[in-house]
Amino acid sequence: MSKVLIIGAGGVGNVVAHKCAQNTEAFSEVVLASRTENRVRAVAADVKADTGREIGIATVNADNVPETVALLEKLRPDVLINVALPYQDLPLMDACLHAGVHYVDTANYEPPNLAKFEYSWQWAYRERFERAGLTALLGSGFDPGVTNVFCAHAQKHLFDSIELVDIMDANAGDHGYPFATNFNPEINIREITQRGRYWEKGAEWRETDPLSVRRDYDYPEIGVKPSYLMYHEELESLRLNLRGLRRIRFFMTFSDNYLNHLRILQNVGMTRIDPVKFQGTEIVPIQFLKALLPDPASLGPRTKGKTCIGCDITGTKDGRRRRVFIYNVCDHQACYREVKSQAISYTTGVPAMVGGTLVANGAWRRPGVWNMEQNDPDPFLELLGKSGLPWQVKELPVEE
Ligand code: NDP
Repeated sequence: MSKVLIIGAGGVGNVVAHKCAQNTEAFSEVVLASRTENRVRAVAADVKADTGREIGIATVNADNVPETVALLEKLRPDVLINVALPYQDLPLMDACLHAGVHYVDTANYEPPNLAKFEYSWQWAYRERFERAGLTALLGSGFDPGVTNVFCAHAQKHLFDSIELVDIMDANAGDHGYPFATNFNPEINIREITQRGRYWEKGAEWRETDPLSVRRDYDYPEIGVKPSYLMYHEELESLRLNLRGLRRIRFFMTFSDNYLNHLRILQNVGMTRIDPVKFQGTEIVPIQFLKALLPDPASLGPRTKGKTCIGCDITGTKDGRRRRVFIYNVCDHQACYREVKSQAISYTTGVPAMVGGTLVANGAWRRPGVWNMEQNDPDPFLELLGKSGLPWQVKELPVEE
């Protein structure tokens, strides 16, 4: 039995807190800490009402390493699950190293003043985690996270060699607002407005203009949806860890309405991340925009419909070509009924709890910094299915 400290009390933090509280077999004690006390208290009260379990609460500024170290030394958790923002990844990894605590997150580090995300900053911690005998598990959300584990499952059980991977992410949910993002708007918009990028053997990274490559994909239980090529962080680690890979890409669905709003916001400068002077003070337009948009945590009661996220994989097995889609379908309203969150927060928070459990119980604990697919997929997928995210494998006709 272990003690877990969750950092971040937003949409995802709410789900992780509920799911860790439900997992009485793994976690004897659950503590939630974040920057704003009211949000921590509100989540803890909901967890108590929904699960009957009392969780501990604390406030912390996770950008401040000594402050986090002091909290870790006071609480002595076995594992820290970071569901604050990507900006906090490095300070929280530093704090874990100081205090001797295992580390799990769901999104790779991003410097606040540069809209760029890559693993180099976190992979640079490998030796320090190895020397300290501590585990850092990176990207234990859905994508990255479950998508990496689906690939590891395919590599272990379904293919001798994987050649093509398309990660397909569909959100067919409708929240009724003209424009809102399903997770932190600042992080979401920074990600979507970047140039597209995919990996192809021989050519290495190929770049495309933002959201310029469209593919109409038939998602199980959802149907055909326009999906756009984007860069996504799991491509960086998966291309290193899959045998025989020739190409890996990532696609996400966006409605025309969403894309129109985004285009206009970009055109008028509202998605800028550099400070501008306004009436004598400096403001960062994207942060101001975040303050105007609906809080993703508030979308839960309004959002109807389903998500479908999965990996479309082509390769060979026993000398024959094969193509499968490994996926999960999640219903926004069912998530809301269970934990008062929409499916985007739910599909991120459940795998964060599962990753935290496997580090805490030792199944995925080994010194160093690891991406999800570098671990045995079996215990992860077993617990994922039991924890509210069942998954399926569908055979598809081989296309080439
Ligand atoms: P929210 O903005 O809803 O929540 C973030 C929380 O972190 C808030 O409670 C915020 O506090 C807290 N926080 C921010 N800065 C600090 C700080 N310096 N110290 C302490 N706490 C801080 O975001 P989401 O819940 O939507 O997303 C959480 C994470 O999940 C993000 O990193 C996101 O990228 C990741 N994610 C991963 C996905 C995946 O599939 N892998 C998918 C979706 C999200 P406050 O309340 O004061 O603002």
